[in-house]
Amino acid sequence: MNVIIVHGGAGTKRDLPERKKVVIKAVESGYKILKEGGSAIDAAIRATVILEDSQYFNAGTGSGLNIEGEVEMDASIMTNSLECGAVACIKNVKNPILIAKLVMENTDHIILSGKGAQRFAKIMGIRKYDPKTKKSKALYNKLMRRIKGGKGTRYFPRLPDFIKYYNTDTVGTVAVDREGKFAVTNSTAGVILKLPGRLGDTPIFGAGLYANEIGAVSATGHGEGIIQLCLSKVAVDLMKENNAQKSVSIALKKAKKYNVRCGLIAIDRKGKVGWGHTADAMPSAYIKNGKLTYKDWV
Ligand code: ASP
Repeated sequence: MNVIIVHGGAGTKRDLPERKKVVIKAVESGYKILKEGGSAIDAAIRATVILEDSQYFNAGTGSGLNIEGEVEMDASIMTNSLECGAVACIKNVKNPILIAKLVMENTDHIILSGKGAQRFAKIMGIRKYDPKTKKSKALYNKLMRRIKGGKGTRYFPRLPDFIKYYNTDTVGTVAVDREGKFAVTNSTAGVILKLPGRLGDTPIFGAGLYANEIGAVSATGHGEGIIQLCLSKVAVDLMKENNAQKSVSIALKKAKKYNVRCGLIAIDRKGKVGWGHTADAMPSAYIKNGKLTYKDWV
């Protein structure tokens, strides 16, 4: 079947030209793997690593900082055979998605979090890495100045406003290979200025991602709302009777009803693609039958 779709987060219009370039590079690299007979897992992972390494997304290098100025990242992978792996609140690694894959392939667990995830990464030979960049520190300092300037309180009741303007450039991928097998991945540092230990939807199966024999979906956006709606599972279930695009549209309608700012990408069992969002933008691209389609979704 060989189809792959990639998103660079729903929510912000920041750096769109740069993010477009990376999204296209990621989708093309993933597609190349599919075309050469590689698996959906390898294609989705390759695309996700490119996005994590680019510094333009809230995933891997350049990730947003939490309220204490630390980067805590979440990443996940799932296949149509319900194999799953995720890491949550992991610090000091370069590619959280690779550790999520190691969890899936090497442990009896599905999600490892915090220090336990870091210990596991070390055991698996992953080197320590600081994903902060000058830019991510500058954004953190700017937001903290706003908070300290009286625009919020100690417990950040205005955080939803910041989500609206600054966050959500997480990354996600859905791929289907020539054997009709699906893989879906997610990677993020979560909502900027989040409280330490907070988990969003990204590593939560059924919420931030889901795959089975019917289709696969990756979600991005306001994690709390996506978890409340179990949005990815809702969208996959809709694919029993609808194509991927219709399913995404119905799921997003539901999200809108609950004021959840989010985006979805999907592929169904016929290889049809679905995408859309309820936020400001969602740079995304897919390749099907060798043809690339890109949208900023502004
Ligand atoms: N969904 C992610 C979270 O809430 C953020 C995002 O998609 O940008 O952690």
